Amino acid sequence: MTSDRQDTPFAQFTGAHLTSEIQQVVFRVLAGPQDRVWTATDVARDAHVSDHEADLVLRRFKAAGILERVDEPGSPRRYRWRPQMAYLHDGSEPPPGRHDPVCGMPVPTDSPHLAEYDGREIGFCSLSCLVLWRRQHRGRQRPNPVIVRRPRNRQ
Ligand SMILES: [Zn+2]
Repeated sequence: MTSDRQDTPFAQFTGAHLTSEIQQVVFRVLAGPQDRVWTATDVARDAHVSDHEADLVLRRFKAAGILERVDEPGSPRRYRWRPQMAYLHDGSEPPPGRHDPVCGMPVPTDSPHLAEYDGREIGFCSLSCLVLWRRQHRGRQRPNPVIVRRPRNRQ
């Protein structure tokens, strides 16, 4: 485990996405082989939480691009690590490209979660990081940052 490292991409991720005890417990359960596929029931059993609690955390991790869905027809929702997240496991740097300034994760090029500050577009992994960033910046910098609204299916 790498949870005691400070000021690293891992610590930045932890500070943004593992803010509740249940998120931390689920993350520890998931932090095994990166190619393993999980259902909420698997996670609930190993993390000693309810299926509902596990499901909520998995959905949230999916929404942030931490996990991806690998369902098969007729199966329950199945998740695995997004390959771009390997840096959390091997202690390397996140892959090159645009990074979320809050959590440090690589931001998908089609992310709908954008803000503009000082003429620069900033991308976020998820709405939760965007909201956190805006809260941190609002009122302290002029001009206030602007949330860019872009439909998910347009460039
Ligand atoms: Zn983020």
